[in-house]
Amino acid sequence: MSEKRTEIGEIGEFGLIDQLNSKIQIRHQDTLKGIGDDAAVLDAGDKVKVVTTDLLLEGVHFDLSYAPLHHLGFKAVAVNISDIAAMNAVPKQITVSIALSNRFSVEAVEAIYAGINAAAEHYNVDVIGGDTTSSRAGLVISVTAIGEVEKGKEVYRSGAKVNDIICVTGDLGGALIGLQVLEREKEVFMADPNMKPQLDKYAYITGRQLKPDARMDIIHELKELEVVPTSMMDVSDGLASELFHICKQSKVGVMIYEDKLPIDKQTYDTAVEFNLDPITCVLNGGEDYELVFTISQDDFHKLEKHPDIHFIGHVTKEEEGKFMVTKSDTAVQLKAQGWVHF
Ligand code: ADP
Ligand code: MG
Repeated sequence: MSEKRTEIGEIGEFGLIDQLNSKIQIRHQDTLKGIGDDAAVLDAGDKVKVVTTDLLLEGVHFDLSYAPLHHLGFKAVAVNISDIAAMNAVPKQITVSIALSNRFSVEAVEAIYAGINAAAEHYNVDVIGGDTTSSRAGLVISVTAIGEVEKGKEVYRSGAKVNDIICVTGDLGGALIGLQVLEREKEVFMADPNMKPQLDKYAYITGRQLKPDARMDIIHELKELEVVPTSMMDVSDGLASELFHICKQSKVGVMIYEDKLPIDKQTYDTAVEFNLDPITCVLNGGEDYELVFTISQDDFHKLEKHPDIHFIGHVTKEEEGKFMVTKSDTAVQLKAQGWVHF
């Protein structure tokens, strides 16, 4: 008799995590939140500690033919800091683990670490440990980040309330389009190594892909303005997918407006150049590492004039579903394609 075999693609990454989580038991009272948010939350007296980890794999998350090692080191840290920010916390420490093949020289590892150290300085964190091992399947970088926030000020995916305003920072879709440009230039180069990549015109979006910056600036500003979002996530898988998580965990619906979605001109123009719908890129592009959060209407006046926070819609009742009002004023159901690795 053969054992039952389910393909991971059938249940998806999130389905798999849910399934694993259902068999995990929390044994300690100070584990306030385990699996299921951007970071775990641990009781630490009048504060909570938040902990998150992310894995970057060569060939899946990055391609060394266009990702400079320095940027890669920076990005490995930034994507974790982004999850700390998504909890409304401030990062303090990171650990860094790497698996290397013999393709790498000491200088190459030093280049990765120059990026890691630059990020550590930028985000004001200490590198406190890690692990180093060999790899037969390319470069692997895993970072764990630890942060903290005053107890009660941590922000989960589960706190959105009906009528809250949905906010997004920065602009979306750029990292996905940047990746398309990098892939295209790589193909051109592979076909003819004498061809120089034409990247100047695409500097903003390729930068969004290669060297994202976690929005700690926004977390510090929210604190100064005395705004605690009711729910928050970072945009790593795509806005629509993140909104689905907030809806599921907060038991709410959403109504967003196409004309309010933030998109940069270079992102828009390049999407069109690639025959992609810019709005689909905004909704489903991954890796922008912006923040999506909800605020109570009472806090709106504190953020209203902020140049880099966009108000894209509002929270509705769960039974009202998840919709986007298009520019032609019709409501279409949101689909969460997300960023699929399987
Ligand atoms: P994010 O995109 O914010 O990094 P993920 O979607 O990767 O979050 O993960 C969602 C949740 O599932 C997090 O709480 C994460 O710690 C947890 N998680 C992911 N993979 C595993 C795993 N293999 N075992 C246990 N928990 C996991
Ligand atoms: Mg996250």
